[in-house]
Amino acid sequence: MPFCCSPSIPNVFDVISERPWEIAVPPFQVAPRTYYVSGQRWAGSYLIDTGDGCILVDTGVLESCPLLVESVHELGYSLRDIRIILVSHAHVDHCGAAGMLAHLSGADVLMSGEDEEFMRACPEETLAIDPRLRAQPFEVSGHFSDDEPVTLGEVSVRTLLTPGHTCGCTSFFWDVENPASGERYTVGMHGGVGVNTMNDEYYASSAYLTPALRERFVEDAGRLARMHVDIALPSHPNQIEIMDRAGSYTDEAQPYLDAGVWAEFLAERVRQVREAMGSQVSRR
Ligand SMILES: [Zn+2]
Repeated sequence: MPFCCSPSIPNVFDVISERPWEIAVPPFQVAPRTYYVSGQRWAGSYLIDTGDGCILVDTGVLESCPLLVESVHELGYSLRDIRIILVSHAHVDHCGAAGMLAHLSGADVLMSGEDEEFMRACPEETLAIDPRLRAQPFEVSGHFSDDEPVTLGEVSVRTLLTPGHTCGCTSFFWDVENPASGERYTVGMHGGVGVNTMNDEYYASSAYLTPALRERFVEDAGRLARMHVDIALPSHPNQIEIMDRAGSYTDEAQPYLDAGVWAEFLAERVRQVREAMGSQVSRR
């Protein structure tokens, strides 16, 4: 299945804050040990079953937390199974429910030191980005290091600082084995690629982020694209189409296995950033 993306959801802040059920989606498997569990189709969250508890990657917003909880239960897990919560970056759509879920599960919350600082210094650009969303501040149990994977049970998640969308935006990579064939796959999720924070208008009003981040994003993209990723997962499901195959996963079928998608996805995101840079240059 070639790389494909879809338009973002219209008026998504109204929808997610007032009527999240309109974009509800049941949980579905995307890779061995790995399930889409955010309960809504705006911002992704993934549950990784490590064999000794679960790792949750991103939490969605507080308003859709009940949908995430329902997803976890529907898959047969308890919230107490979640032992580690990984936060890709400090925006509310990825960590708005981190406080609530840490409280309910007892899990440790890990994020980059860079984005924790950004979050503490600039609530209006991170957790309080929109008055319709009511994120709770949360405690951070530890910071990522690119040299030290986060290991639980049989899964090690490698973290990679990938600045651009935020200063401490972090991407995640983990290896899983197909129980049917014994093949091993690398699953990857880029931590954040939105051009909404990589344009001159944003930089003009930001108290924290600078255009150097956008340059770093473009510079790093080539190196990142050369990494081998068998199953590329989006942090927002419109950025890499996955909903079209929801519910069709079997170990034998592997509907998301395509080692070409990762590089195509990154190329498309760099194109969007360059387009934003180009249009700003031509407007001057
Ligand atoms: Zn973001």
